[in-house]
Amino acid sequence: RQEQYAKLRDVRAVTKDGVEIALHMNAGLAIDVPHVHETGAQSIGLFRTELQFMLASRFPRMDDQYRFYKGVFDAVPDRPVTFRTLDIGSDKILPYMAKIEEENPALGWRAIRIGLDRPGLLRMQLRAMLKAGAGRELRIMFPMIANVAEFEAAKAIALRELEHLRRHGYGEPETLRLGAMVEVPSLLWELDLIAERADFLSVGSNDLVQYMYAADRDNTRVSKRYDNLSPPVLRALERIADSGGRAGTPVTLCGEMGGRPLEALALLALGYRSLSMSPSAIGPVKSMILSLDLDEAQVYLATLLAADDGAPSLREKLRDFALSR
Ligand code: PEP
Ligand code: MG
Repeated sequence: RQEQYAKLRDVRAVTKDGVEIALHMNAGLAIDVPHVHETGAQSIGLFRTELQFMLASRFPRMDDQYRFYKGVFDAVPDRPVTFRTLDIGSDKILPYMAKIEEENPALGWRAIRIGLDRPGLLRMQLRAMLKAGAGRELRIMFPMIANVAEFEAAKAIALRELEHLRRHGYGEPETLRLGAMVEVPSLLWELDLIAERADFLSVGSNDLVQYMYAADRDNTRVSKRYDNLSPPVLRALERIADSGGRAGTPVTLCGEMGGRPLEALALLALGYRSLSMSPSAIGPVKSMILSLDLDEAQVYLATLLAADDGAPSLREKLRDFALSR
């Protein structure tokens, strides 16, 4: 199997009916980065920057962060990198930061909420990214954006940092794109607005599903009750892809479901054309794509959703469909 997947490295991910799908890779550590070349991923579609912070014994300074991000760019000289700003809080604790007692940490002070309340931290990280991305295509996305105003606030901080670099004569990214993660359900009702204002959207389905079902993603007692392939989740995901399409804003999905072939099949049928996943998932997903008649899958899934009878999941039916091809 592994050998078979290795052979697919330089094969473009095109469905049987000729639709090309962009496959990107998720990373978080320096050792993840070389997998871009082994897997043939088009880019790093999600770089989880908090891992560097979680492994450090003190808060990484601007220079530490700069060197780290520069190292990532240097290791992928020919591809863009999408860095996500710090997504700490909840389960992602920094040992050197005073622990804040919260009754519901997953609903608490985390991710962009910390960034906006402590803009010094966010500014430092953005400055490190912008400097490291000099001459390159840099994409930055903000986690846990709950409304358009939070995105605008984070974007304003990034643009101010860019201005600062210019004034001080530093090099700047050749292209800078600022995106929002869609993973807090409130954003589902501001989709057209966010799609118009962001340069790209990235769907964090792990959190989106957790919050839609009010079921802790790490607590299997409740998380296993609900399926990613349920009509409510699929409809939410479809709306996100549709809004991106209407605004002409690229949408990628970077949650774990994008790396599972059956779920990826459903995502493509909903309109997704770009997925970011762990390195080991790229081969299996590409292999599914090469054997997929997308038009047929689209019609099939649309029919299933139209005939929704309240079944909690479409997984079985989608699996039967996939196996019968
Ligand atoms: C997600 O929420 O789906 C996601 C990609 O980010 P993380 O798993 O790091 O929260
Ligand atoms: Mg998330």
